[in-house]
This record gives sequence, C-alpha cells and structure tokens, in this order.
Amino acid sequence: MNQSKYRGQKIAFLTQHGKQEVVAAALEPVLGCEVIHVSGYDTDLLGSFTRDVPRSGTQLDAARRKARKGMELAGLKIGLASEGSFSTDPYTGMMPWNREIMVLIDDELGIEVVGMAQGSTIAGQILTANWDDVEQFVRKLGFPQQQVVMRPQSEKDPRFIKGIGSWEKLGDAFTNLQMEADNRKVFVEPDLRAFASPTRMSHIAHASEDLAQRILSCCPQCAAPGFSVVQRQPGLPCELCGTPTTTYLSETLRCVLCKHEEMRQRQDLQYADPRHCPQCNP
Ligand SMILES: [Zn+2]
Ligand SMILES: [Zn+2]
Repeated sequence: MNQSKYRGQKIAFLTQHGKQEVVAAALEPVLGCEVIHVSGYDTDLLGSFTRDVPRSGTQLDAARRKARKGMELAGLKIGLASEGSFSTDPYTGMMPWNREIMVLIDDELGIEVVGMAQGSTIAGQILTANWDDVEQFVRKLGFPQQQVVMRPQSEKDPRFIKGIGSWEKLGDAFTNLQMEADNRKVFVEPDLRAFASPTRMSHIAHASEDLAQRILSCCPQCAAPGFSVVQRQPGLPCELCGTPTTTYLSETLRCVLCKHEEMRQRQDLQYADPRHCPQCNP
C-alpha cells in the first residue's frame, strides 16, 4: 500500500447535496485522510442547475471557489470540492452527457489536483396539461430514484418545486402547479442535484476514485502528490496490419508542483483494435 501524504490529515469538503458519503468512501480508505463535511453554506449561491443562479466561469473555477469556501469555513489548509456539468457527448453530440470533476486544493504544498469522470446521463423535459404524459415521462427518467423539478406554465416560470421524489409528491405538485398556471400546463425536468440523481452520484464516485489515484501518484523529482497524465499521444499499431491508429500509444505525466514531465509507453495494450485502424476500417 502506498503511503499517502494525506494520512491522518483533515480535508474540508463543502457540500449540501449529500455527496459527502460517496466522496469520503472513495478517498478515506485510499488516502487515510479524514473528509470533514462542511455545511451551513448554500452552495447554490455559487451557481445552480435550476437556472435561478447562473454559474460564472469554467467548471473548474466553480469547483475551486467551493473548495476555498469550505477551507475558509472549516479553517483548514486543504480542501475538496466537486462540480458537475451537462452537455452532449463528445463523440456524436447526440447523447446527454454529464462530466464531474473533483478538485483537491492543498495550500500547505501549494498544489491543486483534479480528478474527473464522465458518462451518459438522463435528460429531457415536458410541458403538458396531461397527467398520463407526466407519468410516462418520469418513468423514462427512472423516477422516483431520479427526482424531478416541476414548474407551472412554462420552462421559464420562476416558481418551481425541486426534489420531487415520490409519486405522492409528484401528484400533489401536478395538481397545485396546474392550478397556478393560466394555460393549465406544467413543465417537468430531471432534478440534477447530486442527491436527486443516481447517475450523477455514480460519476461523482468515479471522479473521487480518479482523484485518489492521482494523489497517490508522486513526482519522481520532488515527491509531490498529483503526478499524473496530462496528455495522451495516439499511434498504437493495429493488431492486423501494424498501421499507427488513433488509439493512444504513450502518455505524458506532469507534476502539479515542479512541472517535471515524463513520457511513458502504454503497458496495458500492445496493439490496437482494427476497428480504430485507418487502413482496416477507413
Ligand atoms: Zn515534482
Ligand atoms: Zn489495420
């Protein structure tokens, strides 16, 4: 077992969306640290997914702001934060996609380490006056494990009910919001806060595992944690014809502190699948 720099250390983690358990479960046994859950600050003030507070800057900037806020509130020099984003998948641009990052900021060492995980997710929305449509729509999302947000009238209505996670609540929200709507319609969409979204929660767990592995990897020059892959070079030869493919052949690792770099040949694979070969599968 690798000796971690964070053994016995307290790490602040500001969250109000029930991520602390999955994050602590991924980091504590591997790093030997103690994840200190910091609450009492409304992280939605730093940006939310229900469009009431727009997020500013990049996903990483948002994560950094949260980590720093948590460190400040807990009075600790090391902090963690997670931040999600939603878009379409990077391959076809057709599938709803969720990318989760986990950042560790260590002001004692002066470093920042970022873990990441991504994958497809649920998405969709409906505007309807019909209960059967609502029922059919939420079933497709995986309700009630996946919770929903409901608004009267339209997508843009400022009134909304978040965290609807039972059939009873869904029925009540439908009745009440329909009465508030001039057009008798309700707008329904998935609630993307972590505790309300099982797919997001599993991506957060994977991003935390990725972060833990990056932290465990130490720089051969200065021994700082966070010596990890920053780039991959394509060119792994095709298994059938030997032509260089788009599959990666080597990785560049860089230290987050002294910037020392190393290129490493891929160890897990010698040849690429012919499906990725420009000769065999043009
Ligand atoms: Zn270094
Ligand atoms: Zn080939």
